[in-house]
Amino acid sequence: MPVTAPFTSSAEVVHYVAGKPYVGHGAQTQAVYNPATGAVARQVRLGDSKDVDAAVASARAAFPAWADTPPIRRARIMLKFLELMNRDKDTLAAIITAEHGKVLSDAAGEVSRGIDIIEFACGIPQLLKGDFTDQVSTGMDNWTLRQPLGVVAGITPFNFPCMVPCWMFPVAIAAGNCFILKPSERDPSASLFMANLLKEAGLPDGVFNVVQGGKPVVDALLHHDDVRAVSFVGSTPIANYIYETGARLGKRVQALGGAKNHMVVMPDADIDQAVDGLIGAAYGSAGERCMAISVAVLVGDVADKIIPRLKARALELVIKNGMEADAEMGPVVTREALERIENYIGIGVQEGAELLVDGRNYRVPGHENGFFTGGTLFDHVTPDMRIYREEIFGPVLGCVRVKDFAEAVKLVNSHEFANGVACYTRDGQIAREFSRRIEVGMVGINVPIPVPMAWHGFGGWKRSLFGDMHAYGEEGVRFYTRQKSVMQRWPNDTARGAEFAMPTAK
Ligand code: NAD
Repeated sequence: MPVTAPFTSSAEVVHYVAGKPYVGHGAQTQAVYNPATGAVARQVRLGDSKDVDAAVASARAAFPAWADTPPIRRARIMLKFLELMNRDKDTLAAIITAEHGKVLSDAAGEVSRGIDIIEFACGIPQLLKGDFTDQVSTGMDNWTLRQPLGVVAGITPFNFPCMVPCWMFPVAIAAGNCFILKPSERDPSASLFMANLLKEAGLPDGVFNVVQGGKPVVDALLHHDDVRAVSFVGSTPIANYIYETGARLGKRVQALGGAKNHMVVMPDADIDQAVDGLIGAAYGSAGERCMAISVAVLVGDVADKIIPRLKARALELVIKNGMEADAEMGPVVTREALERIENYIGIGVQEGAELLVDGRNYRVPGHENGFFTGGTLFDHVTPDMRIYREEIFGPVLGCVRVKDFAEAVKLVNSHEFANGVACYTRDGQIAREFSRRIEVGMVGINVPIPVPMAWHGFGGWKRSLFGDMHAYGEEGVRFYTRQKSVMQRWPNDTARGAEFAMPTAK
């Protein structure tokens, strides 16, 4: 599969400003790895505040004309971008697998879910349509319109280098804003690939910019007076920091954080489907998904039926270089991630959980330096354990046994994270009660990873989301626009004389 420059192994991943690659001021670089081999694949530039200034200046310059461009013409550029993303989706998936490690079919799935949002953004003329009331008073009309904010920024995590940026920029741009993306420094190449496609689609220079780097870039974006809104997706401590800092500085902020997702399996569930659901959702993408299931809540006698089967399946996982067609699970993203995950497994053992499958020290022949860990399975996990309370973000599934449905709901509702949750049952009443009582943002009934479709919006509750609005969907449109109300009348309909009382309908 051809992966064209600047994505060859010798390339340095730079910024993208004013419609072209930009080397910038920041002299530092950081290694980007191929997680399957452990080798350094390329370097990424680490930007500084001057690079942010350059990106903001380019976005500011582009904003007046872009905001004035009729929505239908902005939508046509999105439509062209959609076509180009579909043309190049295999190349983009290969870029993601090479830097993130997830298996190719999973990378293709992420690109496809990103493309869904671009498709949604093509409907921007309809989404921006305001309300109009004829004759609110004699000779007077009132209408609302939604206008873009200006320069907005998005800061994204390593685990979805295409899909999560696509939660943000297609909607932001289609709504008339100019966007600055700060991708994860661990897998930065997808951002430039999409920047090139946006240019090819006819997007004016400066409407989409990329600044690579870490905290200094994030802080410069947060503190820049001309950046009106910041969207963030990543771990909870950073989401909290972004929300508090951005809000204090008067910005609109949407900060999606970490997760610990439960799957409740009721005694009446289809056990085959529950096993499939748990294995795919716990070990897919090596557990590096914010919607991964990391806790199986086994109700009543389910544990005896399901645990032997989970154990057998966890031992059979096909773990190898994600580029290989039959791989079910690839490596994790970095050596540090590998060490953190394996350290948590040790903590679980010390805490007294029963280690049924130990993924530590997993070796893939021919890839001895790759960042591989096996699938890990714990039984008898309890709510006081760190492996229950904390996000591990790796292929580690813990089983918690509860006596009944009420205890399962109480357990889930007591957790500080509330991103996704699933319930496997055949009972409609249980399913309905579960969806209504559970205090979690995204719920699946016999659906293990209930990532909402493009027009529904994505977001957790509690410490999984800081801010009022969810990503993409109609809430995304609201986040990236502000409402204006206009009241209008014309001289022939206007009575003479000043009014000193509060105006009322006449
Ligand atoms: P991370 O928080 O380490 O990094 C996210 C972004 O923040 C990156 O762009 C990074 O460069 C930047 N960053 C890192 N440290 C920073 C600091 N001190 N100050 C300012 N910015 C900083 O997250 P990650 O490891 O890239 O991604 C995994 C995390 O993201 C997990 O916690 C996962 O649950 C979460 N996540 C959540 C969602 C969601 O929708 N809720 C989706 C995907 C990932």
